[in-house]
Amino acid sequence: MSLKVYIDGKLVEKDKAKISVFDHGLLYGDGVFEGIRSYKSLVFKLKEHIDRLYESAHTIMLDIPMSKAQMTKAVINTLKANKLKDAYIRVLITRGVGDLGLDPRKCKKASIIIITDNIVLYPKELYQKGLEIITVPTVRNLSSAVDPQIKSLNYLNNIMAKIEAINSGYQEAIMLNSMGFVAECTGDNIFMIKNKQLYTPPQSMGTLRGITRDAVIAVAKGAKIQTHENILTRHEIFNADELFLTGTAAEVIPVVKVDSRKIGNGKPGKITLQLLKEFNEITRKEGVKYKV
Ligand code: PMP
Repeated sequence: MSLKVYIDGKLVEKDKAKISVFDHGLLYGDGVFEGIRSYKSLVFKLKEHIDRLYESAHTIMLDIPMSKAQMTKAVINTLKANKLKDAYIRVLITRGVGDLGLDPRKCKKASIIIITDNIVLYPKELYQKGLEIITVPTVRNLSSAVDPQIKSLNYLNNIMAKIEAINSGYQEAIMLNSMGFVAECTGDNIFMIKNKQLYTPPQSMGTLRGITRDAVIAVAKGAKIQTHENILTRHEIFNADELFLTGTAAEVIPVVKVDSRKIGNGKPGKITLQLLKEFNEITRKEGVKYKV
């Protein structure tokens, strides 16, 4: 069975899932998206993802031609049509078909695309061994430019940083903000543990308010770990006891080296592994249930 993709109310075969070359999503990256996951027929934090999608759309003045309840149904129906219990879900809203000018008013109707597929993970051994990452020159977008809270279809800011990491032989990179403070990674949030307390940069540092980030903060609070949203410098990161990244795709992944500096004892930390385990447990327990 070939994969079916949802486009504007229809489920079409993957090979036939096409949009116009005049769609401003393609011409200008004018649109928004979300990355969501389901585990064992439970969609994790679906409401939070849909709320964030509509917030991104609201800021760029893009009308999603469907209610949140209809969007929830469309996501579930796409998962069911593909008989996927464990999936990565990508929801895209493009500005729609217009002409070659920037003017979004030329685009009469936004397009809704929902892709569900098997999830490609980082290799399992990385979760046991931990990642090595670097800081890259490209700084995170300013909130006064394209706010990092907008999950826009133009991800070049992050792609530039990713290219710099790859060019240096690394898979992930720390992005600083224009003041030189730690913002986040190219597709993940960053956390450190120091003296058994948890630290992560606040939104004002150019950090996306990740849904996994919020879930991990909740898990940490439940485990009576003191949590702080603080400005973090590279110096503080280098001297952390433990370090890890969070994201819908990566989940919770330990980091053991930054810019050639060993973090802690160079192995995934105890608290990190505890949070990773508890996060994995909640993703298998909580969520919007569906039957395939
Ligand atoms: N930062 C960036 C830049 C991202 O693209 C993502 C992935 N959406 C994250 C952080 C993690 O966010 P979430 O936990 O909501 O997937």
